Amino acid sequence: MKFELENLIRDNIKKLKPYSSARHEFTGEASVFLDANENAYGSPLVDAFNRYPDPLQWQLKFQLAKIKGVPAENIFIGNGSDEVIDLAYRIFCNPAKDNVIVCPPTYGMYEVSANINDVAIKKVNLLPNFQLDVEGILNAVDENTKLLFVCSPNNPTGNNMNRSDVELLLNNFPGIIIIDEAYINYSSQKSFIQELTEYSNLIVMQTLSKAWGLAALRLGLAYASLDIIDVFNKVKPPYNVNKASQMLALDALVNTGVVNDWIKEVVAEREDLAKELLNFSFVQTIYPSDANFFLMKVDDADKLYDYLAGNGVIVRNRSKEIMCENCLRITIGTPEENKQLLNLLNKYE
Ligand SMILES: *Cc1c(COP(=O)(O)O)cnc(C)c1O
Repeated sequence: MKFELENLIRDNIKKLKPYSSARHEFTGEASVFLDANENAYGSPLVDAFNRYPDPLQWQLKFQLAKIKGVPAENIFIGNGSDEVIDLAYRIFCNPAKDNVIVCPPTYGMYEVSANINDVAIKKVNLLPNFQLDVEGILNAVDENTKLLFVCSPNNPTGNNMNRSDVELLLNNFPGIIIIDEAYINYSSQKSFIQELTEYSNLIVMQTLSKAWGLAALRLGLAYASLDIIDVFNKVKPPYNVNKASQMLALDALVNTGVVNDWIKEVVAEREDLAKELLNFSFVQTIYPSDANFFLMKVDDADKLYDYLAGNGVIVRNRSKEIMCENCLRITIGTPEENKQLLNLLNKYE
């Protein structure tokens, strides 16, 4: 089975004549814009909020391109990664016909978005070491399998997927592989965004919601071939990223120093906190993490969760997830917050 993008895209999308906005149709120099029914008098706010934003967010993409070393044309920006995931379903998966492969325990949104789009999910669980079951994945493929989601570092387990496994899949999986790198800034492994020219079936997702500290702006990124980006741009809502988010993100991306310092600090805190937590008798395992959280196996996760929540500290109870029995997922906080957590645990039982 050889990869052919044309065979994967839904027929209705292939035939789609995209909406053409006013700002799409004109690209030259002009000073009077009477084309988009905006309020020409202004906005109650500062800046040009009375004007529709750049549908393709070029300024933001050029800045990202500089930071990431990927051409701006290979970048898609969504209203959070959630929008990228939803678009992938709508572009590639025929409802009630096609299927995708996910590898639990992993990020829940892949499955929710599949359900919303009426796309079947095939689950190929991770191996006991939380690595990909490559053989299981390839065996699960049928002629209607369109996407494979690989989360690396994986949420909630925290580990990177073995690079050689991912490469094997990129070379053999007949559909699109979406590698979700939401936590890549904390990882010791390098991103797959430099491999886009190598693999035409690759979409890499990143986000400004985690290491960049911009969760409230809702900016999800996808990197892929020009052909794939082109379809995403055709299908997305014309103004999917608002102007406030574009402006604020541009400011933030010029300010990389503080972000890099935070990343180092979080990684150091992660190792310290893990060491401290292992001293408690009720902590069984802290799984090694390349993210800004880790999964912790305890005697009784529900009881510990309730105790912490009752004292104002909320962690994520993952104990109902497959392979995560009695596991809590703990985000690395500030040194002060982590100390609060440890103090509370000192008083537990
Ligand atoms: C947090 C997270 C995201 C980010 O989602 P946004 O919609 O961009 O905020 C994406 N993937 C995974 C696995 C995550 O944990």
